[in-house]
Amino acid sequence: MGKCCEPQVFTGLSKGYKRALIAVILINAVMFFVEMAAGFSSQSQALKADALDFAGDSVTYAISLAVIGAAVRTRALASLFKGASLGLMALVILVTTGLRFFEGGAPEAHTMGLIGALAFLANMASVFILLKWRDGDSNVRSVWLCSRNDAIGNVGVILAGFAVAFTGSAWPDLIVAGLMAAIFLQSAASIIMQARTELKQAESTA
Ligand SMILES: [Zn+2]
Repeated sequence: MGKCCEPQVFTGLSKGYKRALIAVILINAVMFFVEMAAGFSSQSQALKADALDFAGDSVTYAISLAVIGAAVRTRALASLFKGASLGLMALVILVTTGLRFFEGGAPEAHTMGLIGALAFLANMASVFILLKWRDGDSNVRSVWLCSRNDAIGNVGVILAGFAVAFTGSAWPDLIVAGLMAAIFLQSAASIIMQARTELKQAESTA
C-alpha cells in the first residue's frame, strides 16, 4: 500500500538479485489471484483493494525488469500504461465500494482475517528475499520498502476483519477499501504525470 507502486529503473542487476526480483514478482502475481478470489467469495472490498496492490506491484517490477536498457521513450510508455491501468482499477474499487455501501451486509470476517494474514506472510517473505540487497542501489531499496509497507497495510486488512467480526457491520471493510483505492488513485496520477514529463523530454531531445 502507499506510494510504493512507483516504477523503478533497474540497471546492472546481478544474477542473484534478478532471481530474487523474479521470485517477488511471482509471489505478488499469485497473491493477486488468491486475494481477489477471496475478496469476491467473502464480499470484502478491502481484500479486493489489497489484491489490486499485489497486481500493481507485480506488473510494475515485471515492466521494470523488461525495460532494462530500453530507450527513455519505451520506459515512459510502459509507465504510462501502468499508471492508466492502476488508475482504472482504483476507480472500479472506489465505485464498487460506494455501491456496497448502499447494498449493506457485512463481508465474511474470518476470510478477511485469514487471507489478510496470508498476504502479510507473502509480503514478509518478499522482505526477507530482498533483505540481502536492501543496502544496494536506491531502486532495490525502494522495492524492499514497498513490501515492508504492504505488510503494514495487510495488518490494516486483518484489523478491519476483527472490527467487522466485532461490530457485524460492513463499515470497517468499506473504510479500509476506500482509503486504499484513494491512495492508488493518487499513485496512478503521479506515475502518469512523471511518464508524460519523460515523454516530452524524450521528444524534445529526439
Ligand atoms: Zn505495493
